[in-house]
Amino acid sequence: MAYTDETLRNIYYKTSGYCACCRKKLALTNYGYRGGRFAKGRWEVAHGTARASGGSDDFANLWAMCLPCNRGMGAVDANRWCRFGL
Ligand SMILES: [Zn+2]
Repeated sequence: MAYTDETLRNIYYKTSGYCACCRKKLALTNYGYRGGRFAKGRWEVAHGTARASGGSDDFANLWAMCLPCNRGMGAVDANRWCRFGL
C-alpha cells in the first residue's frame, strides 16, 4: 500500500520518530528505500493488527517500525510481538 507523505509523517511522529517496537531512532526521510538500501534509520509502516487478522489501514492501526522489527515478526500481529507493546 502506498501512503501519502503526510500520512507517513503522521505515522512517524506518532512514536516521536522511534520504532514503535524496539524504540530505535528512525529517520523520517529514509522510509522504505528512499534513502538507499543502506541508509541509517530506514523504516516501514507496520499494522498493529495484521491485515490477515482483520486489521485495517486506519491510522490508529499503523505504526512506524525499523526493518528488523517489521520483518522479524512475520505473520504475527505486532500488537502481540512487540515486547514494549504498541
Ligand atoms: Zn524496531
